[in-house]
Amino acid sequence: MAETKNRICIIGGGPAGLACAVYLEKKGYTDYVIYEKLGKVGGKAYSPRIEANGESRTFETGAIMGAITYHAVSEMEEFGGYYHKGPDFKKGEPNMRREYRSVTGEKIEPFNPKVDKSLKKTIGLIKLKMQFKKLKKLMETKYAGYDCYGHIGIAGGRYSGISKIVKNAEGTNAGEAFPNYIKGENPNLKDLALPFKEFCELNKVPEVQRIWIAPYTSFGYGFFDEIPAAYVLKYLDMTTAAEFVGLRLWTWQDGTQEIYESVNRKLMHPALLNTEVVRVERTDGKVNVTTKPSDGGETTETFDKLIVTTPLDWFARYADASDEEKALFSKIVHEKYVDFIARFEEDKGPVISGYIFENMEPRRLGHAMVYYHRWEDFGKNCPCTVYALRNHTGDPDVPYEKTLELMKEDVEKALGFPIKEVLYAQESYYCPHVAPEDYKAGWYDRLEALQGQNNTYYAGEILSFGDMEDTCAASKDIIGRFF
Ligand SMILES: Cc1cc2nc3c(=O)[nH]c(=O)nc-3n(C[C@H](O)[C@H](O)[C@H](O)COP(=O)(O)OP(=O)(O)OC[C@H]3O[C@@H](n4cnc5c(N)ncnc54)[C@H](O)[C@@H]3O)c2cc1C
Repeated sequence: MAETKNRICIIGGGPAGLACAVYLEKKGYTDYVIYEKLGKVGGKAYSPRIEANGESRTFETGAIMGAITYHAVSEMEEFGGYYHKGPDFKKGEPNMRREYRSVTGEKIEPFNPKVDKSLKKTIGLIKLKMQFKKLKKLMETKYAGYDCYGHIGIAGGRYSGISKIVKNAEGTNAGEAFPNYIKGENPNLKDLALPFKEFCELNKVPEVQRIWIAPYTSFGYGFFDEIPAAYVLKYLDMTTAAEFVGLRLWTWQDGTQEIYESVNRKLMHPALLNTEVVRVERTDGKVNVTTKPSDGGETTETFDKLIVTTPLDWFARYADASDEEKALFSKIVHEKYVDFIARFEEDKGPVISGYIFENMEPRRLGHAMVYYHRWEDFGKNCPCTVYALRNHTGDPDVPYEKTLELMKEDVEKALGFPIKEVLYAQESYYCPHVAPEDYKAGWYDRLEALQGQNNTYYAGEILSFGDMEDTCAASKDIIGRFF
């Protein structure tokens, strides 16, 4: 049977699962099914509509932003016919303006040389600039090859994957620059297994953490003393980090969820919603997948191949996982990222998004790190999303309810924005990754060796990083290499 006639099951209708379907179609595959347990696609790209100021608009409770380096997301946009706004925002578009606040609510200007011209601050900013430049150079030379998607070979000083480099830096759409497979050896890459803090100290650029922390820790991706540098620098490679600093970011008018809703509408086989995969059995060269629709009994379908885009540690619980799968997937850890959308008392909310650097440290676990003000024209009456992390390696988790309390207190008492009601609150299984010691021991090479065994392929966030771009690109890579 020609490969393209294979019947393929995709578990999960998030960005990774839908991207798999898009790339399968591009390769000529027509017989696939996507199972999605919820009543919508998009996974953690979730953009509910909320009534505010007499209008219904989208608010983000999951993914918000992208950048010029979002090549695979651009391909999703192209497929679905729905495009981002920015980096130059017009009136009425959701933009990315921000300010910084101290833990007691005062506005601060840590990066503005014109405010507070003290010697200490001036020297600090000069150091920061020099170390940023130094790191940029190091990443191009000592760590050449770091900027491809995925982690194959890194622990052994090798790299291979689709390059992240934007050749067409003029426009917002990288277009023909993608894909571009690169491969090579560079023993220095082994340093990327170190926690980012240690990696920065080793390379004598500790100050740069002040730049990376806002788009990294406050976005829920963990703390620099526990996360391998590989994750930090693959997500916030030098180009993406610079785009963040320069506020050249993308947002989506109808929300990030709509990227995937529009893709789903154009697929040959849109995702089967409300259909949870509850069992997987792989026998006789086939894959038997049992699903349980929310309104019915279990059914089992047989496939030639399986693509898992959902958390692999969960997969090991409902599938006939091998010993190697169980051993490997038990090493996965994830962040506990909490957010809520709050409506404020009339004319008493913030007018712009804010970052609270002091709350991005483990000693302030559970406190609000950032809040997102999406619609400028709503001024002080714009509901905002507020975010906090409640876990850190070596510390007890802050309980979920306690985290919500701390976050509310921060917003009301420290920042001075009285909350009228919380419209929505959630905790996400966020940013699955492995600890530095497992990364160093070659976790990703063991995963790569499993690809295709038992007709099973693994995609999703763990493959590269927990953002929309890396997950869609990982799907492109898996379909490109194995189908
Ligand atoms: C608060 C927050 C802010 C974020 N901000 C950004 C951002 O600004 N930019 C960015 O690029 N990314 C951001 N992200 C991350 C981004 O949303 C994720 O990385 C991306 O959605 C991951 O895609 P995925 O398909 O791998 O997983 P998911 O989005 O988690 O999708 C997995 C899907 O699988 C389904 N599923 C699970 N188990 C089963 C089962 N047994 N059977 C059937 N279906 C199942 C789930 O319901 C879900 O729909 C953010 C996420 C959150 C939560």
